[in-house]
This record gives sequence, structure tokens and C-alpha cells, in this order.
Amino acid sequence: MSELLYRRVLLKLSGEALMGEEDYGIDPKVLTRIAREVMEAHDAGAEVALVIGGGNIFRGAGLAAGGMDRVTGDHMGMLATVINALAMQDALEKLGGKCRVMSAIKINDVCEDYIRRRAVRHLEKGRITIFAAGTGNPFFTTDSGAALRAIEINADLLLKATKVDGVYDKDPKQHPDAVKLDELTYEEVIARNLQVMDTAAFALCRDARLPLRVFDMAQPGALLRILHGEKIGTLVR
Ligand code: UDP
Repeated sequence: MSELLYRRVLLKLSGEALMGEEDYGIDPKVLTRIAREVMEAHDAGAEVALVIGGGNIFRGAGLAAGGMDRVTGDHMGMLATVINALAMQDALEKLGGKCRVMSAIKINDVCEDYIRRRAVRHLEKGRITIFAAGTGNPFFTTDSGAALRAIEINADLLLKATKVDGVYDKDPKQHPDAVKLDELTYEEVIARNLQVMDTAAFALCRDARLPLRVFDMAQPGALLRILHGEKIGTLVR
């Protein structure tokens, strides 16, 4: 295979990506499949950082809609991302990977605190590094956490794994004639009002000119092929 086009990448997975066919929690088979793909990327020589959402367990906005204080709900959502990160750490270690979980909120007994220089060192040493607890602040999302950490660690590419195979000109679930867009600038995404990430996350990527590729992780081998330069999904830059 060709040389890697991207050396250091951050992969953002939604919590729902871990659910598989279930409607809550983590499906161990799905977790292992994703971990295997991450290991493939690592074994090919990439430095891989991960951010995993928490939507398969709790989302602050959903809890607030049920009457809970929003900040408390967001704290629960952030803790949900830590649970997912620990599960992924376990799956990666079972496959022989070296892994560290770093949390934006301090829970030293279960994982490390996020310290940027230490995170970069982990990556340089070939440790798959999972950034948990998003940005550490309520009212944000893990998309924002992923954008922030990708910029902080100087990632070459932010990869956003979704259930659709890229960005479309309109919602492909509602419009059968929706057209997939292979490449976009940040300005085009704004001008055409396309949904790629939430506004805060998108603004971070745009201001840092961080390239972002949106793709479907359910396609086997997609992650590694992207790292080798294959144009899978949609590139925004
Ligand atoms: N969250 C937060 N601050 C952050 C990141 C996440 O408060 O910086 C909370 C928020 O409640 C969110 C939940 O954690 O709903 C889970 O994250 P997210 O919804 O982004 O997960 P995903 O949709 O990717 O599974």
C-alpha cells in the first residue's frame, strides 16, 4: 500500500456508533470491530487519537428535557463519554494496543487528566490516546471537544464517523435525489447551510483551517484507506 497521507489523526465517533443494533449502551461486537480498525490504522504507522461521544448512555439536553438541571445533565453526559472511553481502552488493549484515556474532568482514579504536552507524548510513543469528557464544560458537545483536541495536538486531519457516507446537499433520508458532495470549503458549508457539525465545533475547525473528513465507519477498512489518501466520504477544508 502507499505511504500514509496523514500521520496524526483524531477520529470522532458518536456514542451511538457503539450501540450497534441495541438502543442503549455498548455492543461488545461493535466495540471490537471499531477497535480492530483503529489498531489497523495504528499498525500502519499513524498516531491515532480518539474522541467518543456519550449519546448511547446520556445526553444533557435529553435529560434536561425530562426536567433535570441542564448542567447536571451535561456532567452526566461527560461521564458517559468516560465510560465509553474506558470500554474502548479495554477493547484496544485486548487487541494488544497501548492506550491511554485522558479526561477533561478530573477522575484520576480511573484515567489520566488531560494535559496537552503529555497527550502529544503519548501519541509520539505510539499510544492510542482517547480524549474523554469532551471539553470539560457543560453546553458543549463532543464534536467541539474533538475539534478542540485535534487543533491542540496539531492533528493533520479530523475524521468524523457518521451513519451516512459523507455530506449531502440535502438530507438523504428525506430526499432520495440528494447528491453527495465529495469536497467542500468551510465557506461553502456555511453558505449552503449544510449540516456537518454543530456550530461551535465547525467554527473551531474553520478558524484553524483543520481539514475534516466525514465518512461512514460501517464501511470495513474505510479508516485505513482514508489514511492512505483514498477519497472516501466528504472532505471539508
Ligand atoms: N458534553 C458536555 N460538554 C462537552 C461534551 C459533552 O456537556 O464538552 C455532554 C453533553 O451533555 C452531551 C453529552 O456529554 O450531550 C454526550 O456528548 P455528545 O452528545 O456530543 O455525544 P454523541 O452525540 O457524539 O454521542
